[in-house]
Amino acid sequence: MANRFPLDASRLPRRWYNVVPDLPAPPPPPLDPATRAPLDPAALEPLFPPDLITQETSTDRYVDIPEAVREIYRLWRPTPLLRARRLERALGTPARIYVKYEGGSPSGSHKPNTAVPQAYYNARLGVRRLTTETGAGQWGSALAFAAAQFDLACEVWMVRSSYDQKPYRRSMMELFGATVHPSPSPATRAGAAVLAADPSSPGSLGIAISEAVEAAAAPGTRYAVGSVLNHVLLHQTVIGEEALEQLTMAGETPDLVVGCTGGGSNFAGLALPFLREKMAGTMSPAFLAAEPAACPSLTRGRYAYDHGDAAGLTPLFKMHTLGRGLVPDPIHAGGLRYHGMAPLLSHLYELGLFTAVALPQRACFDAGVLFARTEGIVPAPEPTHALAATVTEARRCAETGEPKVILTALCGHGHLDLAAYDAHLSGRLQDRPLPEPDLRAALSHLP
Ligand SMILES: *Cc1c(COP(=O)(O)O)cnc(C)c1O
Repeated sequence: MANRFPLDASRLPRRWYNVVPDLPAPPPPPLDPATRAPLDPAALEPLFPPDLITQETSTDRYVDIPEAVREIYRLWRPTPLLRARRLERALGTPARIYVKYEGGSPSGSHKPNTAVPQAYYNARLGVRRLTTETGAGQWGSALAFAAAQFDLACEVWMVRSSYDQKPYRRSMMELFGATVHPSPSPATRAGAAVLAADPSSPGSLGIAISEAVEAAAAPGTRYAVGSVLNHVLLHQTVIGEEALEQLTMAGETPDLVVGCTGGGSNFAGLALPFLREKMAGTMSPAFLAAEPAACPSLTRGRYAYDHGDAAGLTPLFKMHTLGRGLVPDPIHAGGLRYHGMAPLLSHLYELGLFTAVALPQRACFDAGVLFARTEGIVPAPEPTHALAATVTEARRCAETGEPKVILTALCGHGHLDLAAYDAHLSGRLQDRPLPEPDLRAALSHLP
């Protein structure tokens, strides 16, 4: 009874998969906020190197992974696919649960899958410094690691509430050589403006993005983004390409593919290669995104053009948005606190290619605790949303007797999130679904 489906290092994917040319309709383009006309890709050059802009707008089905990137990927890839038999047994379910685990990467999540190529393309252009934002600290530590591989300086704006709650994430970024600012910070005009209005602002990912984008205007500097944009989703497809091969080794095809969604990159990374197979007629899985009830962009957001950041510095993206001014309740322990959803995934959602569910955090932590006790891996708070959805489905299978094959993305470990587990185990965590008046207020400012 195999529990692991190890891929030989020679099976590390050679190409990333771009779903855009396979879609029945192209995604709506980003708009220039000044003219409301489709954005000229050249307008992104102050932020990103040309290779990444090409990938952002690409209609090629595959993009070759540079050998220098594959060499670094080999530090932790191919990643394990696990059969969660002990979880299945605890649930008494006939479902077969497969878990694609990204927690063994240098920073403990899927984020280095895109941090490494982003650092690579910037280094090749001669960039010397990268700026970025980070919410829970996962993306900042991934970029700090990747920047160190290419001798780039790395400056990170970390959402204030996480900066205070997660000192070890900051330590990890500094260990990899990055400089970390709590956001909002006085170091940028965007941060200073927020501080002037609210000196004790807990910050938000949207505010931190404004600061990092502003700071990227300095010479020799570019901005790196951890989720949401097309090139990030593209890089993450290594997850799904590996999982496809591993499930084939296991002799299975999935009935359901589940992932948690913040900006959408780990879910897209796992799901899109399977969606390609579904569109080609080789399998027919359903796809389910699990998002937090505190920040439910897919299930309660509006599909509209909005800025990607709080200050309104970025282009306009057509996406499911809660409004860029929304500051999700800091009581929420997960890192899924972003007002928007990846435009590409938003488009797929509108096309009806996947469904979504919003989950309260205590049920998610319960699933995380169950997973830790049965399978021995402490999940990051974010993928506990995917695990909770998986557990719900597996319990349903226990009632119906249906032996579904469920594939879920365990996109990171929770070793640096033990304070959140502690709060959960001692009953201090609260469910805070996004209040309707907060949502209405934030949506009233859509451009
Ligand atoms: C960043 C992060 C997320 C949310 O981002 P996505 O782009 O939706 O994947 C989820 N889980 C972990 C572990 C993360 O680090």
